[in-house]
Amino acid sequence: MTPSDLAFDQRHIWHPYTSMTQPLPCYPVVSASGVELQLSDGRLLIDGMSSWWAAIQGYNHPVLNQAVTEQLGKMSHVMFGGITHPAAVALCRQLVAMTPNTLECVFLADSGSVAVEVALKMALQYWQAKGEKRQRILTLRHSYHGDTFGAMSVCDPQNSMHSLYEGYLANHLFADAPQCRFDEEWNPDDIHDFAEKIEQHHGEIAAVILEPIVQGAGGMRIYHPAYLREVRALCDRYNILLIADEIATGFGRTGKLFACEHAEIVPDILCLGKALTGGYMTLSATLTTRQVAETISNGDAGCFMHGPTFMGNPLACAVAVANLALLAGNHWQQQVQSIETQLQRELVPLAAMPGVADVRVLGAIGVVEMENAVNVASLQRGFVERGVWIRPFGKLIYLMPPYIIQPEQLTRLTQAITAAVAE
Ligand SMILES: *Cc1c(COP(=O)(O)O)cnc(C)c1O
Repeated sequence: MTPSDLAFDQRHIWHPYTSMTQPLPCYPVVSASGVELQLSDGRLLIDGMSSWWAAIQGYNHPVLNQAVTEQLGKMSHVMFGGITHPAAVALCRQLVAMTPNTLECVFLADSGSVAVEVALKMALQYWQAKGEKRQRILTLRHSYHGDTFGAMSVCDPQNSMHSLYEGYLANHLFADAPQCRFDEEWNPDDIHDFAEKIEQHHGEIAAVILEPIVQGAGGMRIYHPAYLREVRALCDRYNILLIADEIATGFGRTGKLFACEHAEIVPDILCLGKALTGGYMTLSATLTTRQVAETISNGDAGCFMHGPTFMGNPLACAVAVANLALLAGNHWQQQVQSIETQLQRELVPLAAMPGVADVRVLGAIGVVEMENAVNVASLQRGFVERGVWIRPFGKLIYLMPPYIIQPEQLTRLTQAITAAVAE
């Protein structure tokens, strides 16, 4: 890329959460292969981010490439209204088979945020069909569910700046986020605020939505499975739908195929995205029970009112099918387990360093929380100079590498973090 390309980018192109007047620097990547990103000046960076939890098999994977190419030769897209196709059927078959038995009806959509919109709309239509006016959602502080309006309305009010959109956003209920850590002894007080909110408001609550076990973009918080079990029990007691947003945690990232398994609970609605296509294309899925699906379908509308243009996109479905086959064939459990062991060995000692508030590891997720917010631009420059791609946010420097990363490559990432923290 030429300097003029970069100047054009700065002047004309929005990047995620950046200013158009004072944009953070952007690094030109021209190709990627395995776990390495190649900059336009030829430098290679080891990727510690999996392109935001997505590229679990690494980049330019021959099997995934082949799946896309084969599908491309047949058809890259066809409308899903009144038409079905082999890739969508194969994918949904796999999703139904790999998720808990009760989740058997699949809605395919274009992105994680839309999967969350779909889940919220399912919950609203479900109660509408049952003749009950229930329109509030109970969620947790520090949660993140996406950037569209419905999803944003159930994100942490501070992190997602609800004040900016006041009067426009739906007014939902927020319970205190879990404090009890994953591996601590469970403290029953932790569920107190949630229990109180659900007791007080159950008559108006359509659903609870949360990220099981790991609250991701809202602070990389890893919490106790008992919290999740208590939430499931309270939802059962008050007959409220539970939506598990596993868009970030799904497909093995936390050491279980789905994070709900840590608590042995099953949600009524499950959102999947991010790693679904191995990071190749944007695609998401919302799964629910036959009972929810049939109740919605027997309601006044007679159908579920959603249908995106690119629903069930064949290229995305084909690559997702190949990705799920790879996931199984690659022994993801061993891959994630060995990443976890290494992250524990190489990151946990950082907790003793000055300026570090906390270090936590679960599955292929390693988080170093600093006492103060970090300078993203300068930290990122240092990482690039050390040949790694790590993008911190707020007080957090974290890793979620592709599952195929080799131990030496992972050490390069943890050493870069260690050096950054030492500075
Ligand atoms: C990333 C994310 C989303 C939103 O997905 P997009 O594909 O970015 O719209 C929703 N929920 C969780 C938990 C996520 O991590």
